[in-house]
Amino acid sequence: MPKLSRKLSFFTDSIIRRMTRICNRCGAINLSQGFPDFDPPQELKDALARAAAGHIHQYAVTWGAANFRQALAKKQSKFTGMEIDPDKNIVVTCGSTEAMMAAMMTVCNPGDKVIIFSPFYENYTADAVISGAQPIYIPLRPPEFNFDKKELEKAFRKRPKAIILCNPSNPCGKVFSREELLIIAALAEKYDAFVITDEVYEHIVYKPYEHTYFASLPGMAQRTISCSSLSKTYSITGWRLGYIIAPPEITDNARKVHDFLTVGAAAPLQEAAVTGLNFPDSYYEGLREIYTKKKELFLHGLDSLGIKHTNPQGAYYVMMDVSEYGVKDDVEFCEWMAREVGVAAVPGSSFFREKVNHLVRLHFAKKEETLNEALTRLASLHQKAAKRLQK
Ligand code: GLN
Repeated sequence: MPKLSRKLSFFTDSIIRRMTRICNRCGAINLSQGFPDFDPPQELKDALARAAAGHIHQYAVTWGAANFRQALAKKQSKFTGMEIDPDKNIVVTCGSTEAMMAAMMTVCNPGDKVIIFSPFYENYTADAVISGAQPIYIPLRPPEFNFDKKELEKAFRKRPKAIILCNPSNPCGKVFSREELLIIAALAEKYDAFVITDEVYEHIVYKPYEHTYFASLPGMAQRTISCSSLSKTYSITGWRLGYIIAPPEITDNARKVHDFLTVGAAAPLQEAAVTGLNFPDSYYEGLREIYTKKKELFLHGLDSLGIKHTNPQGAYYVMMDVSEYGVKDDVEFCEWMAREVGVAAVPGSSFFREKVNHLVRLHFAKKEETLNEALTRLASLHQKAAKRLQK
């Protein structure tokens, strides 16, 4: 038999998605793969029913239906303060997963280097490798998850083609400050690199933190490829609607990559999602409040159980410190926890380049009753983990 691609040896299947399968097998509460267990707003479900009853069941324009792009351009222009042209600056993709992959394939040649902050969302390594690029990892050091400017500049001296910026960050919940972003901007300019952003949590940021769109920084629009999606903002992760926003020289080419990858995102879902894109500002304020409440409930719960954890500034993940349970292999620990405690988490080692075995990621995009049930189950963690340690 001929050999399969060498690229496959550089990454495994997604641990996040694997944990969901394990979770489903043992009936645990799924705090691993980050998605809500509640429905999107009723208006969106109604819009989807209308779209289903209508006649939009064939391909949309490959880079996105015109009305979807218009509504998206209007919304993003308002939030970023930039002028986004629906015809020139947008490529609608199948989730931000495709947006990131298409962005990387658009900019990278085999052998190019790409900077990735560690911890990182696991897709980025696969995106880089599939695009033929080689990742350079720069640590965001816990507990503050700050980067070292000198270390970052050293990586830029290797002349990377791009840096990937997940802001707000999955998994560590960091919201990069304007000062930090300006450091990255200056280096991207000095060493002439693209900045590929993943901003899917743009509307899930906890006060007093605020999201700064990288592309809106002075001089950055021309070298920034902004990727995001509707998944988290409207609780529609299964609709798979994402997008790239970039200057026309980039979108012209990203559209080619996207066309051959997937042809396009689902037409009836784009039609329905226009309703969400047209929601008033109060919707986004409401979303922030909903997640702030969930965060407080869950984090207070962890505190009262004496479980150490990170404090996210944005996104909906928390990293729980399991060092006191003598964890040697966090993958095994998470499988054990799903089975014996009934709560599924993602092993931290799948996010870090460095050897980190003491953090596991939980998410709190769940109904209050689900979070309360998860906390009830986690109450047995200390005792069960102590027993496990004795064995
Ligand atoms: N972003 C989500 C997470 O980190 C999952 C996304 C996905 O599985 N496509 O868990």
